[in-house]
Amino acid sequence: MLDRIAQLRQILDGSRYTVALCGSGMLEEGGLEGLKKQDRAYYIEEKYGCAVEEMYTSAFYNTRPEQFFDFYKNEILGRIPRETATAGALADIERAGKLQCIIDTNVYEQMERGGCTNVINLHGSIYQNQCPRCKRMYPMSYIVESKRVPLCETCNVPIRPLVSLTGEMVDSRNMTRTTQEIAQADVLLLLGTTLGSEVFKQYVKYFSGRYLVVIHKEGHYTDRGADLVILDYPMNVLPLLHYEEKTGETGE
Ligand SMILES: [Zn+2]
Repeated sequence: MLDRIAQLRQILDGSRYTVALCGSGMLEEGGLEGLKKQDRAYYIEEKYGCAVEEMYTSAFYNTRPEQFFDFYKNEILGRIPRETATAGALADIERAGKLQCIIDTNVYEQMERGGCTNVINLHGSIYQNQCPRCKRMYPMSYIVESKRVPLCETCNVPIRPLVSLTGEMVDSRNMTRTTQEIAQADVLLLLGTTLGSEVFKQYVKYFSGRYLVVIHKEGHYTDRGADLVILDYPMNVLPLLHYEEKTGETGE
């Protein structure tokens, strides 16, 4: 793997604009199993009497808010993935001027928690919650601590977590920004995702840069479309690039 690391370092060093895409593999390395993985999907259906596909939707939120928040608080807010070495390594690459934008499809702000700054949360964030009427923002703790359905203190209507639920349009500003970032990238890093990703496919087609790099635990037949593929968790790869700032002289 070491020659691939050296190759990646060379690609990044030579890049004038790098964009990273973070997919569901980032959750996995953070210790969270995807909601749709079979065992967990089965457990959830047993517990709530409904499938994930049915509950994590705007229709469910609108028509059955009590059940929605029961599910949301336990299964989403109750199981936040930890930040991994990936976030810190990406923050180091950002500071070195070799990473201009991170596009995260997960809703847990793993990258910001690790110190990254230029992040687009394409599907929103669990830390952003808003009253649909007066637009007041509420912290996640307010949602967690509410007894049943979290209500706006002023308007008394259910507060909306600003995450994209299935069946909704993704925020069009985020879509536009994502497309623009990818279109101007020289290097595109796919972290914890593949070229076959349903979510990213529609954006990756705008990439016309020089190097497409996939770092993912599992190989995929679409990998042959990439210039460099490293089959491992990004947290095992990115710190080996050693972009961290040198803090003073080391002895002698
Ligand atoms: Zn309100």
